Amino acid sequence: MADAVPLWTPETLVQATGGTLLGVGDGAINGVSIDTRTLQPADMFFAIRGENSDGHAYVEAAIGRGAALSVVERGRVEDMPPGAALLAVDDVLGALEAVGRAARARTEARIVGVTGSVGKTTTKEALLLSLGADGPTHASAASYNNHWGVPLSLARMPERSAYGVFELGMNHAGEIGPLAAMVRPHVAVITTIEPVHIAQFPNVEAIADAKAEIFSGVEPGGAVVLNRDNPQYTRLADAARAVDIKTIVGFGETSSAQARLLSIALQSQSSTAIADIMGETVSFKVGLPGRHIVQNMLAVLAAAKLAGADLCLAALALSSLGPPPGRGVRTRLGVKGGAATLIDESYNANSASMRAALAVLAGVPVEGRGRRIAVLGDMLELGAAGEAMHRDLAPAAAGADLVFCAGSLMRALWEALPAGRRGAWAPDAQALLPLVADRVRADDVLMVKGSNGSRMGSLARGLIERF
Ligand code: ATP
Ligand code: MG
Repeated sequence: MADAVPLWTPETLVQATGGTLLGVGDGAINGVSIDTRTLQPADMFFAIRGENSDGHAYVEAAIGRGAALSVVERGRVEDMPPGAALLAVDDVLGALEAVGRAARARTEARIVGVTGSVGKTTTKEALLLSLGADGPTHASAASYNNHWGVPLSLARMPERSAYGVFELGMNHAGEIGPLAAMVRPHVAVITTIEPVHIAQFPNVEAIADAKAEIFSGVEPGGAVVLNRDNPQYTRLADAARAVDIKTIVGFGETSSAQARLLSIALQSQSSTAIADIMGETVSFKVGLPGRHIVQNMLAVLAAAKLAGADLCLAALALSSLGPPPGRGVRTRLGVKGGAATLIDESYNANSASMRAALAVLAGVPVEGRGRRIAVLGDMLELGAAGEAMHRDLAPAAAGADLVFCAGSLMRALWEALPAGRRGAWAPDAQALLPLVADRVRADDVLMVKGSNGSRMGSLARGLIERF
């Protein structure tokens, strides 16, 4: 390795956690893991006790895969393989948090925290590219945004990073505050406020308040970036001012936005745009389709500028943004007489991302006799509002020539569709697969989307296997 500085040494870990070293390790620790299936040699392994499994049962596997050190509860040391290199602590998750805080305390990196109802990972990945063009940048992996994901992501940050980007998520009020206190961002971004996880909240205002908890962690002199076009903007800006944050930058399309869209050209797989980012005009191309993506990029460019990065480099980097698995990856399906295109959006869904994906489908050019086909699974966690929110998708689905629906909630949309655009309804993804497969023709474009729990990913994989 070019950089011989280890991520952690046993001594710094003892300092951070107050733990006790047992057994003899060879010292260098180059990564942090809580899952032996993805553990790399020289990682340290935190034996976290979860709802369904206890990490202590996997210490032997961790050692087998080359773990440099395992962090375990003091009371469990006797159960561990003899001679194993261990750090014994009172509470393993608490130790991970302590290491995360130590990582944050020792670095001079400029830190960006990203939360919001949708678009967090897209924004985080774009910031990784944009800030990475300016200096070494560390970012959370995947959507590691919860009570273990955030400290794990912090603990993985190399001391000499120039920038750090962290995703913060929540399902309930009170979750973002403690995460923000660990991350201590210089710049906090709230992508947008939408009725996601609405079953856990009395109203959308309560969702805004839960996201606004991020402000309490913002460093003195720090900044926030807020969606100027979102109805919750004023509520959020007031909350930021209430904790003495002076720099509040609105992004959006309205004339009062300080990071403002000037022009946009949407293509089927990318977009180009010109924006005024706090007085500086930049043009950029982003390698993902949809107006919603361009809106996220306004936040990215504002945050990059506020974090001290070069705006031109940041804008240039956005052309490399591509879809992560299940977020719009396109696959050619070899069907009778030609090929169809599958757009796999199956990773997750709520009404905002469903509408965004349907808008992208409506704008996709189709050739020959091809049709735009939406294959939709239930959006979950919507509580009593669920059925109405599915029915209300009907106008957004009007851009599809044919709509297939899976699940009891999607039945409400199905019934609201004109007969001519009904493909088929089935109780679940598995039952819908053969009905869709029977109808696909050459030149069709199919967009598959639903909440994770609706298992539309298995439908997308089933189509790929079949064709
Ligand atoms: P999660 O809470 O699951 O981690 P997230 O907030 O990280 O989600 P992304 O993974 O970035 O969100 O995006 C999820 C989906 O929402 C994708 O389908 C994406 O295209 C869509 N999306 C992203 N940004 C927006 C936006 N601003 N408005 C509407 N939909 C969006
Ligand atoms: Mg995410």
